[in-house]
Formats: sequence, C-alpha cells, structure tokens
Amino acid sequence: MKFETKCLHSGYKPENGGPGTIPIVQSTTYRFDSCDHVAALFDKPTEYMYSRFANPTCDAVEKKIADMEGGVGAMLTSSGQAASLCSILNICSAGDSFIASTCIYGGTINLFSFTLKKLGIECIWVKADATDDEIKAAFKPNTKCVFGETIANPALTVFDIERWAKAAHSKNVPLIVDNTFATPYLCRPFEWGADIVIHSTTKYMDGHAVQGGGVIVDSGKFDWEAASKVNGHFKDMFEPDESYHGLSYKKEFGNAAYIIKARTQLMRDFGCYPAAQSAFYLNLGLETLAVRMDRYCSNALKVAEYFKKSDKIVSVTYPSLEGDKSYDLAKKYLPKGCCGVISISIKGGRAAAVRFMDALELASDEVHVADIRTCVLHPASATHRQLTDEQLVAAGIDGGLVRFSCGLENVDDIIADIDKGLAAI
Ligand SMILES: *Cc1c(COP(=O)(O)O)cnc(C)c1O
Repeated sequence: MKFETKCLHSGYKPENGGPGTIPIVQSTTYRFDSCDHVAALFDKPTEYMYSRFANPTCDAVEKKIADMEGGVGAMLTSSGQAASLCSILNICSAGDSFIASTCIYGGTINLFSFTLKKLGIECIWVKADATDDEIKAAFKPNTKCVFGETIANPALTVFDIERWAKAAHSKNVPLIVDNTFATPYLCRPFEWGADIVIHSTTKYMDGHAVQGGGVIVDSGKFDWEAASKVNGHFKDMFEPDESYHGLSYKKEFGNAAYIIKARTQLMRDFGCYPAAQSAFYLNLGLETLAVRMDRYCSNALKVAEYFKKSDKIVSVTYPSLEGDKSYDLAKKYLPKGCCGVISISIKGGRAAAVRFMDALELASDEVHVADIRTCVLHPASATHRQLTDEQLVAAGIDGGLVRFSCGLENVDDIIADIDKGLAAI
C-alpha cells in the first residue's frame, strides 16, 4: 500500500459484517478460560492481559503507525515526553550515557539534562552540525545510543539523519529520531538509517488539538546481539529477563526485541499507556494525515515567502525556503515540504513582537504548535519570560522571535491576519 492508503487501511481490517471503524475496546481486562492459558501469557506475552500495557484499540493504531514509518512494531504512550523517556530507558540505565544533538525540543532538553541525570544517566550534548569526527569523539565507553530530531522544535534545523546514523553505527549503537514535526508523511527516518523513531502524536498526527499522546516505533534493523559482541552493551535484549520469567526478547520476538521489551518492562512498570478512547481519536487524525500535511506545507511556504518580503522582518527560518541554513538538508530529507511551522524575527525586538502578536485576530496566541488552527508563540514573553533582553541574546533567542505555526485555514486569510500584525508594529 502507498502511504495515503496505509493512513486509512493499516492496522485494522474489519471482519465480514464487523464495524468499519476501529472499535473502542473500553475494558481494562480480558477473560480467559483456564489458569494454564494465563500462565502461558506470563511466559510469553502474546495476547492482551491488562490495559495498563496493551489494548486492542491502541494495538490497531500502533500497527498502523508502525506501518506508516516502515517499522516492525510500535508502542503508544500517554505523551510525547513519555515516548522520549521510554525510548532512552529501554536502552540506558544508571551509569550509562548517550549522545543527543543540541537542536531538539526544549522539553526533551529538560528531561535529558535534569531528570535523566537524577537517574544516573548522562546526556552528552553534541552540536547538530558537528563533523563526523566530532560526533565520534564524543562517545564514551558507556555510550549506548544517539538521539536527534528531524525538524527541531523550535530551531527548525534539519537533522542530518544519514550522517548521524553512520556515526552511531560505527560505534555499534542505535540512532533514535524524534520525527514529530516531519511525521512519517514528510520523512521516514528508517529509510536513512535511524533505528528507533519517536513522536509526540499531540502535534500533527492527532492534528486536531484534542488529544495528547506519543509513540515509539522500532525499525527492527538494529542487531543488538552483534553489537553487543563488539561493545558489551544491550545484553538485556537477548539474555533472560529475570523480571519476566526468564524471557529472552531476541529469542522469542526476533527483531522486535526492543519494542516488546519496552512494553513488557517499562510500560508494565510505569503504566504511561493511553486509554482506548485516546487511541481512537489519534486514529482519526492519522486517517487524514497525508492530505493535511500537504496543506500545512503549501500554506507555510507561501507565508514564509510573504514574511521574507516584509521590511519589518529581520529574518525568516523555514527549511524549504531557498537560502535557509537547512535548505540542502531539507531538499534531501523533506522533499515534500517542512511542515507548517515557521520562525520569524521581528525588527524592534521584544516590544515590536508583542505589538505584532497582539494585533493578530485569526492566529491565536497559545502554548501549542502544529495545531490545525494557526497559532503563534512569543518565546521572550512566554517560555523564556524570566530572561532579560541580554540573557535572551546569550541563550540564542532574540526578543523579536515569533514561532508562527500555520494552520489549515485558507492562506489568504492567514496572510490578511499577518498584515494586521505587521501594520501594528
Ligand atoms: C511537543 C513535543 C514533544 C513532547 O510531546 P508532548 O506530547 O507534549 O509530551 C516532544 N518532541 C517534540 C518535537 C515536540 O514538539
């Protein structure tokens, strides 16, 4: 099936006379006829047992997303943050380190810098444009994976997936990519060598601003046992799991070891699983993902070009724009477009940006991005408001910066609204 068809038909096939849409299985439990049957599930988890870690509605959506990304399996989580957390914890434990590109989502930076540090896991930060030698030099003997983001939120730089995957593989560790802004419609990181993909489905995949969620997808391509022979890592992917009756993930589940282990260990213990109803909503978004992404991209390109022409704007960042610092990478990894998010820097700094924002009527000022409706955020007065103008510059955020997230409205209306904002400066 082509991508658009997968959006509608992957993951769930109605039986003769069965419901045409994915049924919401609103049940925490599953009934079995014998003790032996239940006992067998504790030897090898192959059926639904309890909705803290598996549910038929969620399962259908997981299968669909795995298919959209080209992976062997997926696990939904209750938020994007939970997906980032579990993607790392499934590989690293106290005493380990991993490498992350500096151009990633601010929430992930907090998680990696502070919370994982408290758990004894060190994040080694490497600049997204580091040379191959610089990336390799950052590795320590205990470094177990590498993490980057396809289109960084909010920096809007494009991650050189193929190059980073090669660097990670040269050290026999997997590459994890946060593919939230791109979605599998615009970029499929597995095709460029990534091993694990995560998403905040709260953004374009849900697409209607109704449901928070996340997902981890396993490519099935990383050979944990072969890598382990070289660097001694990843033994818990194939050696018996004492917390699961001696189960070996590699032996029982082959190349889906990573994603099964994530469910049987992490989801079992943390329980950050979405409700069936949430997965149902997410699926509604997925069904139209391909058509929506095309419109986000075409609206954003027109809006970016419009901003570019205004003498009230110092700079426009949108990777599909010729001359953008990520233009060449965008052409390679994101030929269909670079999603709906643009960042602009308004002449006159913080005060001018506030006047621009407050004069907008259609675009709403909200702490969200990748919304179906056009929305804007002014980091200097929201997420970074405690900083002075000087501190903002030091943090690489200029006071005039506005993150402009184009929605699916008619682009003429979005541009008419922008005119109101620009006139107020
Ligand atoms: C929003 C976001 C997250 C976190 O997702 P939540 O669903 O808000 O927990 C992670 N990565 C990226 C790129 C995001 O934009």
